[in-house]
Amino acid sequence: MNTRRTVLKTLGASLLLQLVPVGARAAESARFVDVRLWPAEDYTRVTLEHDGALKYKYFLVENPMRMVVDISDMQLDKTLKNLTDRLKPDDPYVQQIRVGQFNADTVRIVFDLKAQVRPEVFTIDPVAEYKNRLVVDFYPKTPPDPLIALLKDQQQDAATPSYKDDEINRALNLAKADQTDKAPASESAKESPRKAKADADSTPQVRRLVTVAIDPGHGGEDPGAIGRAGTREKDVVLEIARMLKQEIDRTPGMRAMLTRNDDYFVPLGKRVQKARGVKADLFVSVHADGFIKPSARGSSVFVLSERGASSSAARWLADKQNASDLIGGVNIADKDNQLAKVLLDLSTTAQINDSMKLGGAVLGKLASVNQLHKAYVEQAGFAVLKAPDIPSILVETAFISNPAEEKKLNDPHQQLKIAKAIAGGVKEYFDKNPPVARSRIA
Ligand SMILES: [Zn+2]
Repeated sequence: MNTRRTVLKTLGASLLLQLVPVGARAAESARFVDVRLWPAEDYTRVTLEHDGALKYKYFLVENPMRMVVDISDMQLDKTLKNLTDRLKPDDPYVQQIRVGQFNADTVRIVFDLKAQVRPEVFTIDPVAEYKNRLVVDFYPKTPPDPLIALLKDQQQDAATPSYKDDEINRALNLAKADQTDKAPASESAKESPRKAKADADSTPQVRRLVTVAIDPGHGGEDPGAIGRAGTREKDVVLEIARMLKQEIDRTPGMRAMLTRNDDYFVPLGKRVQKARGVKADLFVSVHADGFIKPSARGSSVFVLSERGASSSAARWLADKQNASDLIGGVNIADKDNQLAKVLLDLSTTAQINDSMKLGGAVLGKLASVNQLHKAYVEQAGFAVLKAPDIPSILVETAFISNPAEEKKLNDPHQQLKIAKAIAGGVKEYFDKNPPVARSRIA
């Protein structure tokens, strides 16, 4: 090391590169493989993927606010230079990124910041197709109050009542009218008089506003399952979840929130925390299934199992979904997340029973828009379903690994059909199990 420094002082960095044998360099220092940027309202994530161990340090500098990350034993290369192009002008936290060779063996990245941030820097070991990752997360210093954020979002929606899927809706309503003609009329005929009677009996019944947390699976670094044509689960489930939110929001007495409304990663525990933050009455996680055999098909609904998974296939699936945290990249040092995991282990039988009712209602509606994978609600040990006080289901909308279903998952008409089916199940559940009045501020 000493000799190297002497050489550096006398000869300069460019010559040093030529003096050190190529093989030796490759063995001791890592190289950047890819750099990615995931801007979102919640936090902005910068991922520096590299192919070996690296040493780093970071510090915040004020006036103007910026964060400096120094990575030793690294050379500035084309891949890292790309980072500056990845920044979008509407990034909520980062104004500008500058990269440079700080000294002979240290690369410096400077993030000029737009706001007061709480940075988190950590590494993730290689997993799935990813190599080593150095992750820089920028969180807002004071996170927004989830309930206030939900109300603001609601007001914004009310101000802009134009829906982009109006055309699709009109088309669907026509399709629905056709189906109603063919469907046996008995069910609706049986239902309506009873409902009318219930309404007449009860004196002005104030049904409180119910909140549905909708959780689009995966996101950001974690693409979820990938179809043969390249469709990523994280993209289609976000589309379906957004449509589902619209459907719920249009229903009187109901409102919905999304655990993510963009392409970024949310750890499993955080998804449940977010639902709790808005005092959600229900939690619906939206996914698309993947299997080795392309012939596997159909929609499924899962609820949490009390003891492990009800079948080995369900257990396999649960492992896969739970592995999402590893792929997406969780900061293990995040204590909130650790605490959440402890809380999550308190799931109760009552919650599972309610979840089964909800799951049954949703599965019943899904049967009219897609073939079912299993005719019953399955049980598995998904971390995302472990909210002890909130009935929770995980919907595998279809198999993205099945070429025919992958096509369907990409079709906005089909996406809306699925969203409407899930919303229909949720409505049915609340009709049969009206929520007890609960004092709430919003
Ligand atoms: Zn999934």
